[in-house]
Amino acid sequence: AKEKGRNNFQFYAPTMNERAAKRLQLEGDLRRALERRELVLHYQPQIDVSTSRIVGAEALIRWQHPELGLISPAEFISLAEETGLIGAIGDWVLRTSCAQARHWELAGLGKLRIAINLSARQFNQPNLVRMVQSALADSGLQASDLELEITESTVMVDVQHAIRTLHELKSIDVNLSIDDFGTGFSSLSYLKQFPIDVLKIDQSFVHDLATDPDNAMIVMSVISLAHNLRLQVIAEGVETAEQLSYLREHKCDQVQGYLFSKPLPADKFERFLKQELGT
Ligand code: C2E
Ligand code: CA
Ligand code: CA
Ligand code: CA
Repeated sequence: AKEKGRNNFQFYAPTMNERAAKRLQLEGDLRRALERRELVLHYQPQIDVSTSRIVGAEALIRWQHPELGLISPAEFISLAEETGLIGAIGDWVLRTSCAQARHWELAGLGKLRIAINLSARQFNQPNLVRMVQSALADSGLQASDLELEITESTVMVDVQHAIRTLHELKSIDVNLSIDDFGTGFSSLSYLKQFPIDVLKIDQSFVHDLATDPDNAMIVMSVISLAHNLRLQVIAEGVETAEQLSYLREHKCDQVQGYLFSKPLPADKFERFLKQELGT
């Protein structure tokens, strides 16, 4: 029922054939989405807790489908993975966000670190490091202004391979973060073998901070774990002042969430940046 979109109630259960046909249609549409320029990136600010300044942005993809409207990544990233389209889409995300970050830098909007999400298949592409280097070279963005977000489950697909790839990426100076931290089952003993810079605490823990003492305890523990390993911590899904004050009290480094801003199209994000800079 979900893929039927908003306001579109379904009064019957789709048959297997209907579902398969729909999927095939969507796959064809996605194949053409890049050349038809239907994919867009939205940017969500990441805020330094101690200075309240915007220090980064996470790029989040959306698909402006001509008939179905705005489709969220949850609905097409796995399709892109299964069909191999993620290669081209991921490269587009990488290039577009690097170029955008460089543009904001040249426009005097400050130095932002741009974070992008890598899915498992992208992370395991043999030419990943070359693609990253090429996107950096073409945009003129410094590697230290780029951050790649990888989930725990992605690194757990093949731990030894992941360690090698992360070291290769680290050697060209890009930042690495573990996304949705706490939701996977990665062994903590691996954590110190990964040359990562940032842990992103999953929003599910942040969400119930104020009402669920267990979640509050988990968040506190992840922050101290990260700091003991000399990693930075970003809390995502921060929606209330109460959550922010808890995170501040426990020395979380950065925050991201609707309390500050939803992910915004590039022009709106730029306006938001200017507002924050007071220009
Ligand atoms: P994620 O990387 O964990 O991204 C965080 C999600 O939480 C985003 O959903 C964001 O819009 C949403 N969010 C941010 N602040 C708040 C908040 O305060 N409250 C709540 N309830 N939600 C908040 P979105 O944009 O729908 O993305 C969903 C997932 O799709 C992402 O999860 C990521 O795994 C994937 N994704 C997005 N863009 C890309 C991409 O370019 N490439 C790949 N491979 N995956 C992507
Ligand atoms: Ca992410
Ligand atoms: Ca996340
Ligand atoms: Ca997620």
